[in-house]
Amino acid sequence: MLSTSCRFTIKNILSQRSASRTLISHGSYQIADRSLSVKVAVVGSGPAGFYTTQKLLKNEKVEVDIYEKLPVPFGLVRYGVAPDHADVKNVVKSFTSIAKGDRVNFFGNVGLGSDLQIDDLLHAYHAVVLCYGSSQDKLLKIEGEASKNTISARNFVGWYNGLPEDKDLDIDLSCDTACIVGQGNVALDCARILLKPANLAKTDITSYAQRRIEESKIRRIYIIGRRGPVQASFTTKELRELIKLNQNLARIEPQTIFQDHNVNLKALNSMPRHRRRLTELLLDLSTARRKTLDELDGVESVFKFMAKPEKIVANASTGRVEQIELRRTRFASDGDFIDEYARPEDTDEIETINCGLVIRSIGYTAIQVDKHIPMDFRKGAIMNTNGKVQGFRNLYCSGWLATGATGVIAGTLNSSHVTAQTLLQDIEKRDLPNLERVKPGCNEIKTILRAKKVSVVQFNDWLRIDELERQIGEAVGKTREKFVDVNEMLRVATNIQDKAI
Ligand code: FAD
Ligand code: NAP
Repeated sequence: MLSTSCRFTIKNILSQRSASRTLISHGSYQIADRSLSVKVAVVGSGPAGFYTTQKLLKNEKVEVDIYEKLPVPFGLVRYGVAPDHADVKNVVKSFTSIAKGDRVNFFGNVGLGSDLQIDDLLHAYHAVVLCYGSSQDKLLKIEGEASKNTISARNFVGWYNGLPEDKDLDIDLSCDTACIVGQGNVALDCARILLKPANLAKTDITSYAQRRIEESKIRRIYIIGRRGPVQASFTTKELRELIKLNQNLARIEPQTIFQDHNVNLKALNSMPRHRRRLTELLLDLSTARRKTLDELDGVESVFKFMAKPEKIVANASTGRVEQIELRRTRFASDGDFIDEYARPEDTDEIETINCGLVIRSIGYTAIQVDKHIPMDFRKGAIMNTNGKVQGFRNLYCSGWLATGATGVIAGTLNSSHVTAQTLLQDIEKRDLPNLERVKPGCNEIKTILRAKKVSVVQFNDWLRIDELERQIGEAVGKTREKFVDVNEMLRVATNIQDKAI
């Protein structure tokens, strides 16, 4: 079934074609009418996809079709943001009103690189904006990384958030010690979820994950950084939240690290405010009298600094992780210790931690869906200038795909607006090719998808899935119980209306 704006578009095309029969050239219809719509395809429906769309719609001639690999929208807002951070997910309200707009269509369950190729979109649209995020995790590239129960934070987060590809993650929480490698906010999310925050069962966490976490036997969680407290990547609010949750059982190692570098509160004065506040919190943690696991029942979290993963050791018969070997690092000077950009050097000292779970949380990276897209593999992003893909006249990118996997949703909004602005200026300056021609947009794409028998999920279908998820959740006292199986989502979607597209 076609959405209103698509039907409207076809009507437009027909009337525009009859109005311009005399201007046929090179097999295409040239249109004299400058009020012709500008058709834009946006790939990916995370924050970047929606914020880019929102800004593009400021030009009344622009129509946007959003293509999303999954049957459901919102990217990492649904599948990344932690279940106990419900307030962050409120952004979906504004995304929903954008999607309901007259000049927007949503086509879910359509993957670029699988169901469609970039050339299909470039042919059908005046411009294409890639917003498909960073869907791979970075590797440590050390021995033993493939051992059992060594998993990526991306998969762990996907598992508890119900990402279809991670729903069957083979994770064992029956050990007493877990090591999380990396000291960013994703690492803190993973640690916090393992610490079982209050009311987790009432959130939109998948019930299977919640049950397994509830039964977890983990009593100590190491959060491991190769640099020092001043170089940690997590932010103050998230650290404070974890310390609060972990009451008296959060501590840092080495405990004397600040003293060893002659750092006291006064020494922090030269730091930028956000960095100073974060460091003060860690300094506090190093001096406060902490309880021990023997004194308190619970789970202990240990921020371990200056420790670089060297090797993961698996049990010879089970293949399951048993130890992680860490090489101690050191700063060349006390000045480096308080320089947030400093990189320490390796020492000869190796420390071993016995553990039954390793979570690698060292960042995400983007994939190259087409070999012609210029990638900066170091950054994990597409090479672009203000969102315009280098070497292309009508291909753009925004969000994490444009900046690398860094920053919060507000930062993604900024990057998306920069990209949209670049495209709007190209339209304004008539720098975009083929602006004088009618582009078939989703009609041409639908023919391709129909031939490939792709079941497309439209936004109304998603709204029904959304409603059912809420109802099922409500029945068991949760905000939502997510469908975690693509076929199940498609069944719910196809029951609602005729899926002919
Ligand atoms: P994404 O959100 O990843 O969206 C990309 C979309 O593209 C997805 O829907 C994906 O399915 C789709 N896609 C992928 N491949 C294809 C393809 N081939 N074809 C079609 N579609 C495709 N920020 C905060 O402000 N607060 C938080 O609490 C917070 N928590 C986070 C927790 C985690 C674990 C992570 C990883 C990030 C978190 N962030 C948080 C950051 C925030 O999620 C990002 O800033 C934001 O999601 C980036 O948006 P994006 O649209 O670029 O990418
Ligand atoms: P991140 O902030 O870049 O942190 C990655 C961590 O991994 C850093 O501590 C980094 O240390 C470490 N690391 C990288 N390579 C390593 C290696 N080879 N060996 C050991 N350590 C290594 O990435 P992230 O945690 O995945 O978060 C991504 C973005 O999402 C961030 O901007 C984050 O703020 C955002 N986010 C926000 C929230 C929130 O607002 N609540 C929640 C989750 C995520 P070095 O510094 O030494 O490289």
